[in-house]
Amino acid sequence: MQKALVTELRHEPKRAPDSEGLSRVPRIAIIGGGFAGVATAIKLLDTGTRPLRISIIEPRSEIGRGIAYSTRESAHLVNGPAKLFSLYPERPEHFAQFLARFAGEWNWRDPLSPDFVNAFAPRSVFGDYVRSELARAVARERGVGLGRGGLTLEDLTREILKALIKDWLDQNLPYMIERLVKKEIERMVNRAEKL
Ligand SMILES: Cc1cc2nc3c(=O)[nH]c(=O)nc-3n(C[C@H](O)[C@H](O)[C@H](O)COP(=O)(O)OP(=O)(O)OC[C@H]3O[C@@H](n4cnc5c(N)ncnc54)[C@H](O)[C@@H]3O)c2cc1C
Repeated sequence: MQKALVTELRHEPKRAPDSEGLSRVPRIAIIGGGFAGVATAIKLLDTGTRPLRISIIEPRSEIGRGIAYSTRESAHLVNGPAKLFSLYPERPEHFAQFLARFAGEWNWRDPLSPDFVNAFAPRSVFGDYVRSELARAVARERGVGLGRGGLTLEDLTREILKALIKDWLDQNLPYMIERLVKKEIERMVNRAEKL
């Protein structure tokens, strides 16, 4: 059986409780770190008014994606426009703004909707959004991921970056190699012509 990853998040709205206080801090375990689990953690981190310790227990290597948003296939789209996929109902444009900021970097553009509000985004990009919002909510907190055996903020950021870099390399490496090989062939031909 796959080992579950336990991500520990700590929410301390005022000042860090001392060690005695820490033992009284309510502990919340979220079983399943897919979409609903991570959305819950984001809401708890953003709106909680008292210290909390949150553990997310998730067997997948990446939290925040679940089954639906783990696909890397860019043709697998979400089933509605971006304005319906914001994590914040009071800010329906939020996901569209995320797309406008980052989609270009991933070579994804919606041909029909330049402002992204009505774009049907790839499911993997929605997963990136959920994960980046968790990273944002965690970063806003000082005491992040310090639990024993849990991820640190650095680990979380590295994990997110690793996935982004892998996607970028998957898309660009063949082209880069092709360009280098072409250049090398041109160099050899030029050298041969000079002989
Ligand atoms: C192929 C597909 C496409 C979809 N497309 C859309 C879409 O476009 N729009 C839409 O609104 N909805 C879509 N859905 C539905 C989507 O899954 C839900 O909207 C949402 O992601 C469900 O969130 P969830 O947290 O309940 O489940 P998930 O996001 O799947 O998260 C459940 C998590 O629990 C973990 N888990 C399972 N068993 C255990 C265990 N024993 N212990 C600990 N963790 C465990 C899993 O690894 C997983 O990460 C789609 C679903 C699928 C399958």
